[in-house]
Amino acid sequence: MKTITKHYIDGAFVESHGREVLDIINPSNGKVIARATLADEEDARRAIAAAKRAFVSFRQTTKKERAKVLRRLHEVVAARVDDLTAAMVEEYGGVVRFAAPIVQAGANAFLATEKALQELPLARSWNKTTVTYEPVGVAGLITPWNANGLFLCVKLASAVAAGCTVVIKPSELSSLQTQVWLECLHEARLPQGLYNVVTGRGDVVGAELVRNPDVAKISFTGSVGIGKTIMRDGAATMKRVTLELGGKSPNILLDDAVLEKAIPTALGIAFLNSGQACAAGTRLLVPKSRLDAVKRAIVDAMPAFPVGYPADRKTAVGPMVTQKQYERVQSYIRKGIAEGAEVLVGGEGHPPGLEAGHFVKPTVFVNVTNDMTIAQEEIFGPVLCVITYETEEDAIRIANDTSFGLHAFVSGTDVQRARRVASQILAGRVAINGMLDDQQAPFGGFKHSGVGREFGTFGIDAFLEPRAILE
Ligand code: NAD
Repeated sequence: MKTITKHYIDGAFVESHGREVLDIINPSNGKVIARATLADEEDARRAIAAAKRAFVSFRQTTKKERAKVLRRLHEVVAARVDDLTAAMVEEYGGVVRFAAPIVQAGANAFLATEKALQELPLARSWNKTTVTYEPVGVAGLITPWNANGLFLCVKLASAVAAGCTVVIKPSELSSLQTQVWLECLHEARLPQGLYNVVTGRGDVVGAELVRNPDVAKISFTGSVGIGKTIMRDGAATMKRVTLELGGKSPNILLDDAVLEKAIPTALGIAFLNSGQACAAGTRLLVPKSRLDAVKRAIVDAMPAFPVGYPADRKTAVGPMVTQKQYERVQSYIRKGIAEGAEVLVGGEGHPPGLEAGHFVKPTVFVNVTNDMTIAQEEIFGPVLCVITYETEEDAIRIANDTSFGLHAFVSGTDVQRARRVASQILAGRVAINGMLDDQQAPFGGFKHSGVGREFGTFGIDAFLEPRAILE
């Protein structure tokens, strides 16, 4: 049994002032695997004070010095990719085929951000006016439980590139993963107070970051409800905010799509990270005339998405992170049935033989209309809704008929046409023919999916304030 009793403040592991102890449960079998002592407001205030002290000199660093910090962070995280992956599998139930690349993407984010920093001008001038881009101040970085290894790295990389010092509040459900990550950061031997990490409850440590006047900016990834709370409570101290929130991403299957390819891809996008992914394509829009063929193709493709233990390389869908998340998915499956959708594959309950963990059956609903609850609300589990459309315009209308706008997907053979459709979707990212990534491209949402962008120059920009000097 592992025990975690320390936080990371001012370049050192320090005993928690907070006394609450949280059991960390392995979602694959429901067993307690660790106990973590959670930070309280006082730990948060100590971390903020350390970041404030460190900001005095770090804000004056050059691009070259920040680039060096980013390369060092890459080195120390890249050296522990296997350990970070193992922690994500054990604590979160992330399937290894997803966890390993996501952790690697986290390590790579430091290099991608270094590249972006080189491309981003931090000063401009004309006539007798000079504009410089200044770090905004101490930043509070708040992350969810579903891809801890990636989000921590992306946020830290952008903040450091801008010259900010940070206090990080990871999800309390990621304590073990965060511990391994902290060991990496400590190994980097970078300036004290540059990064401070206090794992605690959102309404305790997160709330302190949001209300503390010494924190200038909050970069948050999580649910829409908490995002709104942060925006509202942060207004008292005029916080700058970046909010990366939920999604209900459409995947438009055009009528020239090759189903043998497009359907396995669509299932992969829907069941990404066992469905616990903000970017998952959970609404599959298909031409009405092809519905029967789509149904057959889905049934044929399902064996490639086995549910099971996350450490097994064959497993595509692992357990839900907590019992609460398991119940949430079950309640949506019941709601879908009650509202008249038809279960094509999956359904309620545990998959046979996997009753001990928080496993759900990957589920595909057909006969879904876009106004149903399961088509409008984020389920955050492996549940796909198949919705039919009549014309291309109809598909675009349904795709945009949502309060979210984080991600979208378009599949088809005629790429010109796919581009035309993509250009009419109200989402921060639209991927054509697959789940694609580009660490220089902005990531973030329209509408309720958030405010602001991360990654590349866009991510660094979010931690900068322009200052003009006029002579
Ligand atoms: P959550 O909103 O419950 O928690 C996210 C973080 O906020 C946690 O660290 C939590 O402790 C903290 N928090 C909770 N209350 C707070 C408060 N009052 N003040 C400050 N911080 C507080 O989200 P979750 O359940 O951990 O994660 C799932 C959600 O995250 C989903 O809605 C998903 O769509 C979203 N998400 C979005 C993205 C994106 O990039 N857009 C990525 C991953 C997850």
